[in-house]
Amino acid sequence: MSQSYQRFESVIDRIRAAAAAADRDPEEIRLLAVSKKHPLSAIRELHAAGVRSFGENYAAEALPKIEALSDLDLEWHYIGPVQSNKTRQLAEHFHWVESIDREKILRRLANQRPEHLPPLNCCIQVRIGDEATKSGASPELATELAAMAGGLPRLRLRGLMAIPPPSDDFDVQRGYFAQLKRLYDQLRSAGLALDTLSMGMSSDLEAAIHEGATLVRIGTALFGPRPA
Ligand SMILES: *Cc1c(COP(=O)(O)O)cnc(C)c1O
Repeated sequence: MSQSYQRFESVIDRIRAAAAAADRDPEEIRLLAVSKKHPLSAIRELHAAGVRSFGENYAAEALPKIEALSDLDLEWHYIGPVQSNKTRQLAEHFHWVESIDREKILRRLANQRPEHLPPLNCCIQVRIGDEATKSGASPELATELAAMAGGLPRLRLRGLMAIPPPSDDFDVQRGYFAQLKRLYDQLRSAGLALDTLSMGMSSDLEAAIHEGATLVRIGTALFGPRPA
């Protein structure tokens, strides 16, 4: 068995165990393989293991990869900070943009999504834990952006994404994810048809699943450490 298949199996085991511990159906939880800084060969190996969704953080790195792997049936998620001069590339080449944190980006993506493609799947990135350095909209702004997205063509708002401050403490991790889940539930009760709560990475996927994640974004645990 290849090393990437073994890593894949162990991530699937972790997801299943976390779902069981939270009394959730593991089928509700999607795996996004975060392939930033990893080579095409590693993506092909994970594809062979059964992974279909991949996440990238930098447009300049992602576009050639998407092109080079166009023989595979992959779903690409953009999860990095969005610069406004890159929105056209994202709108043209990705299936999802998970890291929308301001109105200008939302409007540009809606205007630039090509007519011949299905609507662009979107998540609003929310700042959780109040760390000034991390990107993401405040919960108040995220609520406004979510309402706004419904009125824009060519976009399909799917949910919320967050990267909370790192912590080794399971209860602290859970506390952050619970905040995002509360906001998600509020937006759904207000009538928005959301189905995606994107939270949890290699070091905190258990806490995220415990609090209701429907999509976990996993890099290191699937690919090994990123090259410097
Ligand atoms: C890099 C990255 C990940 C994956 O992180 P790992 O700790 O390697 O699993 C997930 N989400 C985002 C937004 C990232 O930038």
